[in-house]
Amino acid sequence: MSAFETRLFIGGEFVQGQGPVEIAFEPARGTPLAEVASATPAQIDAAIAAANGAYKSWSRSTPKLRSAALWRIADLIEERADVLANVESRNAGKPLRFVKAGELANVADVFRFYATAVRNMPAPAAGNFRSPALTSLIRRDPIGVVAQIAPWNYPLLMSAWKIAPAIAAGNAVVIKPSEMTPLSLLELARIFAEVLPAGVVNVICGNGPDVGQHLISHDTVRMISLTGDVRTGRAVLQAAAGPMIKRTHLELGGKAPVIVCEDADLDKLVVTLREASFYNAGQDCTAACRIFAHANIAKALTDKLETMIGSLVYGRPERDDVEFGPVISARQLERIDGFVSRARSAGADVIQGAAAETEGYFFAPTLVAAPIDAEIVQKEVFGPVLSVTPFDDADTALGWANASEYGLGSSVWSRDTATAMGLANALEYGVTWINTHGVMATEMPHGGVKNSGYGSDLSMQSLIDYTQIRHLMIG
Ligand code: NAD
Repeated sequence: MSAFETRLFIGGEFVQGQGPVEIAFEPARGTPLAEVASATPAQIDAAIAAANGAYKSWSRSTPKLRSAALWRIADLIEERADVLANVESRNAGKPLRFVKAGELANVADVFRFYATAVRNMPAPAAGNFRSPALTSLIRRDPIGVVAQIAPWNYPLLMSAWKIAPAIAAGNAVVIKPSEMTPLSLLELARIFAEVLPAGVVNVICGNGPDVGQHLISHDTVRMISLTGDVRTGRAVLQAAAGPMIKRTHLELGGKAPVIVCEDADLDKLVVTLREASFYNAGQDCTAACRIFAHANIAKALTDKLETMIGSLVYGRPERDDVEFGPVISARQLERIDGFVSRARSAGADVIQGAAAETEGYFFAPTLVAAPIDAEIVQKEVFGPVLSVTPFDDADTALGWANASEYGLGSSVWSRDTATAMGLANALEYGVTWINTHGVMATEMPHGGVKNSGYGSDLSMQSLIDYTQIRHLMIG
């Protein structure tokens, strides 16, 4: 029997999936880790029915009660951090030390933040706006059953970003992890089983086109929240326009530009990019993946980046010296390699770090010098690959950045506050960092514009996104 929890979590019980088996791999070795049987349509319907049943009382429970549950979940996540981190590291290929010290701490923090936020729900004060005899007040009610679809790049953290605000607000959830990385969320479900009333959170497994599609198309679902690809975002929008119109919350792809002005602190930038470009093997929607560098400093920056790339340590996630591990799958490896090979064939200069392990899905850190219209500068690569493109004036770089179909993360590097603020204000991106990149705060919203989607993860704004505002007037 597998050492991992591989059963679905429906109505507070772990039940064997009755659908086709999906194999969860260990990307560092390229070998199967566990077999997870998918949910059948009847099991998906049962999960939705369980959520709908639980919603009736959970939505009416006090914020204090929900807050206590979220707080308890956070405590148990910390208590069981070793087990959760081990599963996450093996199935997603993340360095164990980063999962333990960073990502799991953030997962717990997200549950604690929403435990507090729901007791402080913001709204305008009640008032008499039409006449002294008419009193208006605002309610923020939960929405109902929320279908949530999570990606593989941060299986636990993305699930926490979705589940915590949704259930804090009083909704009930049916969540589907990626078929590649279901194991850590199923482990977390053991904690939900201990803490939450049955049906408040349900976890169903399986692929997107069958299991995900059935879930998001169900008439009982009132809201769909996705973190994933733009193509999947379109499928969600279509499902949301079915017989019952559903609210949507989309966190889609990104292609973060890094605009480096002539007066930027290049050493600080290179130290930042070491993590901002290569953490999680670059499989991050805000990864600093394309540098637009002022022509006068482009050569100096490229030299520094080359030295940095040569010193990056990557390899097996259990090693305590690695900065990143493998990419998620053989398919992803092939995809990244395709982008780099095509750039090379098109004449781009390509600099790569040394090869790491002999087995597993490892891709060496890569620096590509390429023009703005190159495929590798325009398309989301989602790997440990960084491009550098020189510009002559900052407005050109701003134009390049804003011409992107994406609008999630971006950064501006300049020692001059007015220059940096001018560029930052003009960037059409949900998040812009100045003289840093990729740093999140649980209190601050995270989300995109254009094809990066809409709606906020994290912050009070996400809690609000998972509520329905209502106006009550008393005459
Ligand atoms: P994906 O869209 O292929 O898969 C995401 C999830 O959607 C998976 O659980 C998958 O099974 C499911 N899915 C696929 N088709 C579906 C359908 N028709 N109906 C319902 N569910 C369906 O994306 P991925 O490859 O897992 O994740 C990588 C993508 O996610 C990248 O594009 C990345 O930029 C994006 N991402 C965005 C953010 C953000 O905050 N904006 C964060 C992480 C990842």
